[in-house]
Amino acid sequence: MIYFDNAATTPLDPEVREAMLPYLHEFGNPSSKYYPIAERAKEAVQAARNSVAELLGCDAEEVIFTSGATESNNMIIKGVADAFWGSGKNFVTSAAEHSSILEVANYLQTKGIRVELVNVDAAGHVNMEQLRQLITQNEPPLLISIMWGNNEVGSLNDIATISSLSKQYNIPFHTDATQVLGKVPVCLADLPIQYVSISSHKIHGPKGIGAAIIRKDELGIRPRLSPLIHGGGQEFDLRSGTLNVPAIVGFGKAAEVAKRDLTINQNHIASLESYLTAKLKEHFESIVTFNSPSSNKLPGIVNVRFKGIHNELLIKKLAPYVAVSSGSACSSSKPSHVLSSIGCSLDEIRSSIRISLSKFNTIEEIEKFIGILRG
Ligand code: PMP
Repeated sequence: MIYFDNAATTPLDPEVREAMLPYLHEFGNPSSKYYPIAERAKEAVQAARNSVAELLGCDAEEVIFTSGATESNNMIIKGVADAFWGSGKNFVTSAAEHSSILEVANYLQTKGIRVELVNVDAAGHVNMEQLRQLITQNEPPLLISIMWGNNEVGSLNDIATISSLSKQYNIPFHTDATQVLGKVPVCLADLPIQYVSISSHKIHGPKGIGAAIIRKDELGIRPRLSPLIHGGGQEFDLRSGTLNVPAIVGFGKAAEVAKRDLTINQNHIASLESYLTAKLKEHFESIVTFNSPSSNKLPGIVNVRFKGIHNELLIKKLAPYVAVSSGSACSSSKPSHVLSSIGCSLDEIRSSIRISLSKFNTIEEIEKFIGILRG
C-alpha cells in the first residue's frame, strides 16, 4: 500500500524502533534514585530531552514531555488562562487552527474568557492586519496562539513577524509547530516565542509522546503557568506522571534523525511535491484546483479538489491501494473548518482530498498513484 497520509501520522523510522527496543526491557523509573536501571532511565530521558532541544534550538530544561500536541495545546492555553483568570483579558487565535486549539478556545468561552478569531486568507495565511489590530488594542490579550504550519493545506505563517510583534506589546505567544517540526528549520533561540507544541508521531517517532516547550525569560525564570496534570511533580512540576521512557527515547531519536537529515528530507519532499502537482495538472487539468498555497508553504502537504468528484467515495475507492484523507484525522467526521476558513464552499470541501508526503515516499509511488487515479 502507498502511504500518502503523513500529516495524520508517519511510519516509525527503523532507527527509532532500534533505539526504543532496549527500553522495553529496561523498566527503571527515571524518578527513582541510585540503582542502575533508574539511573540509566534518567540518563536516557536526559539524552532525549537534549535531542529534542537541539532540533528546536532551545534549552533542554525548556522541553516538557507530554502525551502529544493535543495535550501540549491544552496545557499551555488552559495553563496561561488559569494563571490570568479574572483579568478580563481575551484569547486570540486563528480560524484555521487544529481542533485541539479551537475546542480549548470554546471551553475558555464557557468560562467567561472572550475569544477573538483572526481570519485567514485564501492561501490559509493569517490576516496580519487584523492580528496587528488585536495586538495593539487597549486591553492586550492574555495569549496569542497562531499555528506555524497548517495541517490541512500546509500554509506557513510568518511566525518571526507575529512573535516579534507580540513581544513588542508584551503579550505571551504560543505556536502549534506540530506540522513544521523536521520539515522546516526551527531555531527558537532566535525568536521571542514563549510556548511551542510539538508531537513525536509526525516525525517518524512513536505515538502518545510530544512536548510543550516553555521558554524561560532572560533571567532564566519560567513564565506563570498552571499545570494541567497535578501529581508527583515530574517535568519540573509542570506535568506529573511517571515518564514513558521508551516513547521518550523514541522521540529523542526521531528528533536527532530529523535534525541530521533535515535538508535532505526537505529537498526530497519538495521535489516529490513538485512532481505530484505537475502530474496532477498534466492529467486532470480540466477538473483540478489546488487548495494549498503555491508559496509560503510546508513541503509535502497537497490539498487538491477534483471538480464533480465526491471525496469520501474517492478516498474509499483508493483505500486498498493508497492512503489519503479528506483532511484532519482529528475532525474527520465533519466538513473541514480549515477549507471553509479559506473560502471553499461545501461542494468544494466535499470534492477535496489531502495528499501528504514523507521522506519514505518515492517518485515511483507517485507514478503508481497517478495511474490508479486515471483508472
Ligand atoms: N496540531 C496539529 C497542527 C496537528 O496536525 C495535530 C495532529 N493531527 C495535533 C495538533 C495533535 O497532535 P497529537 O496527535 O500529538 O495530539
